[in-house]
Amino acid sequence: MNFSNFVGGRWVPSASARTFENRNPANTDELIGTFPDSTVADAEQAIDAAHRAFESWRLVPAPKRAEILFKAARIIADRKEQFARDMTREMGKVLDETRGDVQEAIDMTYFLAAEGRRLHGQTAPSELRDKFAMSIRQPIGVCSMITPWNFPMAIPSWKIIPALVCGNTVVLKPSELTPLSALHFVTVLEEAGVPPGVVNMLTGGPAVGEALTTHPRVSVVSFTGSTAVGRLVNQNAAPHFKKVHLEMGGKNPIMIMDDANLELALEGCLWGGFGTTGQRCTAASRVIVHDKVHDRFVDAFVKRVKALRVGDGLDPAMQVGPSISEKQLQKVMSYVEIGKQEGATLACGGTRLTGRAHAKGFFHEPTVFTGVTRTMRIAREEIFGPVVSVITCGSLDEAIEIGNDVDYGLSASIYTQDINRAFRAMRDMNTGIFYVNAPTIGAEVHLPFGGTKATGNGHREAGLAALDVFSEWKSVYVDFSGKLQRAQIDNAE
Ligand code: NAD
Repeated sequence: MNFSNFVGGRWVPSASARTFENRNPANTDELIGTFPDSTVADAEQAIDAAHRAFESWRLVPAPKRAEILFKAARIIADRKEQFARDMTREMGKVLDETRGDVQEAIDMTYFLAAEGRRLHGQTAPSELRDKFAMSIRQPIGVCSMITPWNFPMAIPSWKIIPALVCGNTVVLKPSELTPLSALHFVTVLEEAGVPPGVVNMLTGGPAVGEALTTHPRVSVVSFTGSTAVGRLVNQNAAPHFKKVHLEMGGKNPIMIMDDANLELALEGCLWGGFGTTGQRCTAASRVIVHDKVHDRFVDAFVKRVKALRVGDGLDPAMQVGPSISEKQLQKVMSYVEIGKQEGATLACGGTRLTGRAHAKGFFHEPTVFTGVTRTMRIAREEIFGPVVSVITCGSLDEAIEIGNDVDYGLSASIYTQDINRAFRAMRDMNTGIFYVNAPTIGAEVHLPFGGTKATGNGHREAGLAALDVFSEWKSVYVDFSGKLQRAQIDNAE
């Protein structure tokens, strides 16, 4: 099937007429569809459409904008199963997880649509008589959004819904590896009644992505992806002083103390490390375990990892799907070699799966390295695949020190029964998200999401914090005294 871009309320091909293929990573014989390989000219048209639509959309009362979004949430809920199946076909993660991805888009849409009846500002007393003071949220303009492939519907929803409820217009460029799920989301918004030009979507790669970060009419750039590309996006957007929102990589630790419920910790490490085939920004790619329980934990963990069932995510018996692409799989395999060369012990896995059930996809054995030290590259760099590095520690202090000793700062977790340890770790881990007795993954839509250091640039997605990315504060003073009153001067006596 040939799919199109969505520009100014119409489904159109790229001006270049070029297309690219989207194939199933579990079975590359299956073509999901062909999509426009968009260009700078397409970006200009979409930005123009969004710019024109902004003038009317910003004046639609926020509760009315929200009504359209509520309708969209209901439509997505009705089609959840179809969207989840399509997502597993294009992205590979198992059906339970793609259902979760679609559910996250539903939750986010309901949660932030409700802000249409709030979008609260503040009122404050004036220091002068007969004067009123308040702050209000204002939409900013055209927001371009560049998203990755690992949460193909959830992440576009995290950006589009707060932008729309605040009164902005949007140009979305989803990952070239998962355009179908984003297209489903945009189709629903059109069906729900979002006016032409308010949401536009272009498919394609870095060329069109870059155009969305440099065009003078774009006011906000919201990017989720790798730290390397995020840095480029930031640099490209800087000359025009655009507001830039970056959500980037992670190298997230689970810390297991000697008093932990080990069975619980083990379940957490399996889900945190190998859920979504380790392809989550919040994946628990490091396990820092107290040396008193290290051997007991590792023995049980490795047994359970070896038993994980890897295969096509549409098969309900499978627990781990493929990597997204040959390139991503090659990256995983190269890090396995790096780990071996660095002197870590390969406790299980380490090999590409090539048997009959796996031959047409990008499958890799769930892999555990033990004897990892904090200076090794496998302990410091984001692999984004089914590889977990186990590091030992002798105390909570050491665990925190190792945990913080990476460039990233997205998520961290601790398993302990000691409330004092839990609170110390919560305070001292330099991350945007922290869990106690749960793995590093599992964010809910109504709390802020994002990270510190090389993971983010100080903004947050989700929660009410998302509104701060997509609105600007305006302070308003109304003087009803009928005379000139000078702040800081006329009230001095
Ligand atoms: P990526 O950086 O390769 O690509 C992300 C998006 O940027 C894609 O749409 C891509 O086409 C586009 N792009 C590439 N070059 C560009 C350029 N020069 N200008 C503009 N856009 C460009 O990342 P990916 O492989 O799609 O996703 C995996 C990464 O995303 C991981 O590092 C992961 O940690 C991160 N991620 C972070 C979060 C978070 O919230 N912190 C969530 C999910 C994924």
